[in-house]
Amino acid sequence: MKITKNYIDNTWIDIQSEHLWTRENPSRISETAFIAGENLSHVDRAVIAAKTAFPLWSKIGKEKRQHYLEKLKIEFQNKQSELAERIAIEAGKPLWEATGEAKALVAKITIMCSEGADMVKDVNPENLSGRYRYRPVGAVAILGPFNFPAHLLNGHIIPALLHGNTVVVKPSEMTTGVMELYFECIEAAGFPKGVINLLHGGGKTGAALSVHKDIRGVFFTGSWHTGLAIRKATIEMPFKILALEMGGKNTSLILPNANLDQAAHEITLASYLTTGQRCSATSRVVIHDSVFDDFVENFRSLSQRITTGDTLTSDTFMGPLINKASYENFIAAQKNNEGGKLKPILVGGAAEDTRGYFVKPGIWEVKEFDPNGSHQAEEIFGPDVVLYRAKTDEEAVKIANATDYGLAMSIFTDDRERFDGLADLLEAGIVNLNRSTCGASSRLPFGGVKKSGNGMPSALFAPYYCTYPQAQLFEEATWSEEKSIAGPLAKLS
Ligand code: NAD
Repeated sequence: MKITKNYIDNTWIDIQSEHLWTRENPSRISETAFIAGENLSHVDRAVIAAKTAFPLWSKIGKEKRQHYLEKLKIEFQNKQSELAERIAIEAGKPLWEATGEAKALVAKITIMCSEGADMVKDVNPENLSGRYRYRPVGAVAILGPFNFPAHLLNGHIIPALLHGNTVVVKPSEMTTGVMELYFECIEAAGFPKGVINLLHGGGKTGAALSVHKDIRGVFFTGSWHTGLAIRKATIEMPFKILALEMGGKNTSLILPNANLDQAAHEITLASYLTTGQRCSATSRVVIHDSVFDDFVENFRSLSQRITTGDTLTSDTFMGPLINKASYENFIAAQKNNEGGKLKPILVGGAAEDTRGYFVKPGIWEVKEFDPNGSHQAEEIFGPDVVLYRAKTDEEAVKIANATDYGLAMSIFTDDRERFDGLADLLEAGIVNLNRSTCGASSRLPFGGVKKSGNGMPSALFAPYYCTYPQAQLFEEATWSEEKSIAGPLAKLS
């Protein structure tokens, strides 16, 4: 079996690690997906490559950099089905869903080179002899999670490169093969030496990369705990720009005048897509008392029809959980009713097919509100949903905001004014109308408040953390010695 390699200075390098790990295919755990390893001595090598490439890459101008990205787009298109297959195997997403992720790689380049680029254009303020322009940060580290192994890294990589930064990428140790294919596209697009480098490894490699003295920015997508670890590890390096996209515990609100069929369909999608392993997955639903029973009947019936199976060969809706630890954690959670505060509406647990980490969704009705209850508060990262009754909009908002996370929420109502009023009260970076919490557009910012982010949203706003503003003040008028000494310099002896 092929062992994954690092890509440094445009060369594929054997990892030569003593610490190798075998990654199983989560749909068919008897099969090996890849073997990977890490070599901490490669961290410095990769950073030096990126640092050395920076002066030239930052100078050649946006147009030339865009030219390389256009070539990369063609390579992504050529490898689309291969990328989709790898995503399906390693991340455990059905092929139809993985294909959507592979296609998004191309769309990201298009948007970043148009609307995204406009976000950080030079500005010449009126009646001021000066301007500000956006400069690249330097060599940056990009770290990503398993659940969107290509799209989320790509969401940092494309704006970072376009705006003149050089990059070291550290993908999740659970999805290394996907990024190897991605880097085959990078190689074929012919980027100059050292502009973009790939390092495989786990937390140790991620940590060593983040704290490297020559890394000027850490663009991270992953869990709150890892984001916090990066923040702590870099606390004495405040010059590093940290963009931290972290977890979510996302709530939908269903108001009495909502279309309940639409709500049930949208929430089914958002709760179970990627087997509930999306940062924007819906895991809490607050339903107006008057429509609770109708909604629940509809939602439960759709949830019972969820199909699972091998992500490559069967036409199923939901793949497996990512690994054994997640699977065991999910099954244990299905046995925990928070000391009787939750009543099961649909009992979740292991699916009949035990050839992979397949599970059945769990739905709970909250009998006693507890903002610290494990299902009510923690990111279970699986198909697990709690349902609340609320008598008023105020109560619904109170429940929705009673979580430490603040990534995505959504409201189902036919009343736009009511949506506008409630959206103002919700503590979340994304609030959708009559859509699920998963609906996101690259043409809008994507990021959360509270434990979900650090005020550096990605998607359309990524160019802001990929750059810093440089102010330039120009002389007011032609300089002359007389004019100069008529000012404060007249006080010179
Ligand atoms: P994770 O935090 O376990 O890992 C993310 C990356 O960080 C991996 O590459 C990992 O190797 C690396 N890492 C681990 N320890 C590190 C350390 N000490 N220093 C530096 N890097 C380290 O996340 P995961 O389990 O792969 O992904 C799931 C999590 O990601 C969930 O919490 C989910 O909500 C979140 N997520 C957030 C977004 C978003 O946009 N907000 C999107 C997708 C996923």
